[in-house]
Amino acid sequence: MKSEVFFNEAKGLMPGGVSSPVRAIRPYPFYTRSARGSRLVTEDDAELIDCCLGYGPMIMGHAHQAVREAIEGQLASGWLYGTPSERELKLARRIIADHPSVDMVRFVSSGSEATMAAIRLARGYTGKKDIIKIEGGFHGAHDGVLIKAGSGATTMGVPDSAGVIEDVVAHTAQVPYNDTEALSALLEKNDDIAAFILEPVLGNIGTILPEKDYLKEVRAITEEHDVLLIFDEVITGYRLGIGGAQVKYDIRPDLTTLGKIIGGGLPIGCFAGRREIMEMVAPAGPVYQAGTFSGNPLSLAAGAATLDYLTGHREVYDAMDDKTRALGESLPAPYRDSFVRLGSMFKLYFRDTPPTNYVEAKESDTARFGAFWKKMLAAGVFLPPSQYETNFISIAHSDSDMETIAGAYTTCL
Ligand SMILES: *Cc1c(COP(=O)(O)O)cnc(C)c1O
Repeated sequence: MKSEVFFNEAKGLMPGGVSSPVRAIRPYPFYTRSARGSRLVTEDDAELIDCCLGYGPMIMGHAHQAVREAIEGQLASGWLYGTPSERELKLARRIIADHPSVDMVRFVSSGSEATMAAIRLARGYTGKKDIIKIEGGFHGAHDGVLIKAGSGATTMGVPDSAGVIEDVVAHTAQVPYNDTEALSALLEKNDDIAAFILEPVLGNIGTILPEKDYLKEVRAITEEHDVLLIFDEVITGYRLGIGGAQVKYDIRPDLTTLGKIIGGGLPIGCFAGRREIMEMVAPAGPVYQAGTFSGNPLSLAAGAATLDYLTGHREVYDAMDDKTRALGESLPAPYRDSFVRLGSMFKLYFRDTPPTNYVEAKESDTARFGAFWKKMLAAGVFLPPSQYETNFISIAHSDSDMETIAGAYTTCL
């Protein structure tokens, strides 16, 4: 197998052989040679239906013609200027128009960078020190959010990685998802909290849905305590529909972070929000943030082509929703009950019921997931290789792809 040969060499060239840890599938990951539509083609000539989709960005499917033409169209004019370009205005207008909570945006190059800057901005704006995140919520790989999950509901953080100093995470508290009492209790006893950051729909511990009115109550509680609400919509932005979770659930967060889909598959991130807060960002204000590749014209071109297509074809969201619903309904009886889905996001948990928070999700049988995952791959379906990564479909996933996926679930379970 070529993939095995590549990986054996890669292990000596890069830590763990990979550029990001989740890719280090054992005994070796397949190497991808090309991708088109709903399919990946591996270096070992397998053709796989892709339900990982780059961990979220590729909602258009791979190598979509409109996105490719936008990238090609920009290439001839160069791909990094170090000056402003008109493309920034175009994507900024679009994002602002689609999100009622957003008056201004700042483009960056990754989701991690976006959440890091949004948290700094929240601290700069409020003059307060601490932040709250959700237990099991993921906001990228920077120090302040790499907190060991499950360390107890409302205690301050413990580092989840070597090299993260306790002093930094001591300013990050965690609360369980879907638990407004824990949030209120924490805010009652700590008045030095700048912001509450959460994925409105959890997407990095599988898919966990908000209970009825949870997000509305979160908005009310944070407002009452003068704490900024940051929606991390790096996955859900343009995934759950135009305007992401905040439009779907009709909530106005103070700040929003975006990434993944808004770059059309090229590196991007964005933090955005109310004018009076965003005007605190340098050079308009005192909160420093900068980046060589920020607002690079290739990412902006790919992103604008993607968002233009999605806003011009809103029916694709209902079509994807119908497809994951049918997939769930096709599962054998016991599994139907722990299949979670929302629009084009879905996840089968190996437990009896859908989890409502991190602790429940962690009760899943990961050994069974691992065996199931391998069988799915052999059946030609690439799912993200963890019980705790969300699955996606794209607009390129056809009815016949969905039948193949459904057939594979039934055979492999
Ligand atoms: C992927 C992700 C990030 C990090 O984005 P990168 O582009 O990988 O840095 C942040 N928040 C959420 C919710 C994500 O899913």
